Amino acid sequence: MSEESHAPYLHYISLGGNGEVTKNMHVFETNDDIVVFDAGIGFPQADQLGVDVVIPDVSYLVERRSKVRAIVISHAHEDHIGALPYIVKEMTNIPIYAAKLPRGFIQAKLTEKNLLKGQPIHLIEPEKGPFKVGQFEIFPYRVNHSVPDPLGFFIKTPVGNMVFSPDFKFDWTPVDGKLFEVGKLAALAQQGVLALFSDSLGVNREGYTESEQMIQKAFEREMQDARGQVFITTMSSNISRMQQAINASVKYGRKVVPAGRSIDQNIQTAINLGYL
Ligand SMILES: [Zn+2]
Repeated sequence: MSEESHAPYLHYISLGGNGEVTKNMHVFETNDDIVVFDAGIGFPQADQLGVDVVIPDVSYLVERRSKVRAIVISHAHEDHIGALPYIVKEMTNIPIYAAKLPRGFIQAKLTEKNLLKGQPIHLIEPEKGPFKVGQFEIFPYRVNHSVPDPLGFFIKTPVGNMVFSPDFKFDWTPVDGKLFEVGKLAALAQQGVLALFSDSLGVNREGYTESEQMIQKAFEREMQDARGQVFITTMSSNISRMQQAINASVKYGRKVVPAGRSIDQNIQTAINLGYL
């Protein structure tokens, strides 16, 4: 073997989520290890009649299964965790790493498909510092988003440091009260950053995204004025928004009726874990 083939390398491969909003799946590969970030579903386009969900093509990973060390989850939205049942079926026993709420959702999903047995799902607790996966040392930090427990990652690799920053916003009055760990990220970044992989949705719109708190006020306004029932639709993983709808309902003496299988399931998981 030539000298060169031993030189450490880092490849980034997107299996989804680049140039599109959903179906997030990002692969970091070194000489010996692969770590995957997120495993989300996409939603069918108008020309995909009869297709219910779109999942990333994981044949690249299946071919390199012995190198795949972990799937690390950034947050609990479907376009970041929804493909896990399909992938776990194809590639068993890859350790999954997730914070408390996404871990609960994943456990419920895998239980439903009878895939949970023997599947390691490790809890990420950003306060407890970094965790190691093969040659990667991963430092999770809290960000803000429209679902509790969203994370970004500072990643040390043999060739340099990466910042992997999926969906985030700066919300200084977040619904769950947990602030973006800007100081932690800034301190880590002092060690140098080779590349930033960042969410850029809405980046070409001027201005500042308002706090999720303003949605609470909108709900209250609607409920105060409405004479009959109020219908609210949301992604089933959007626990913070459900809490806001419930808060507004309580304030105006309204009864809440959740409707939908995933909504029911996620509400149950969120209640069990103390998020609702
Ligand atoms: Zn999201």
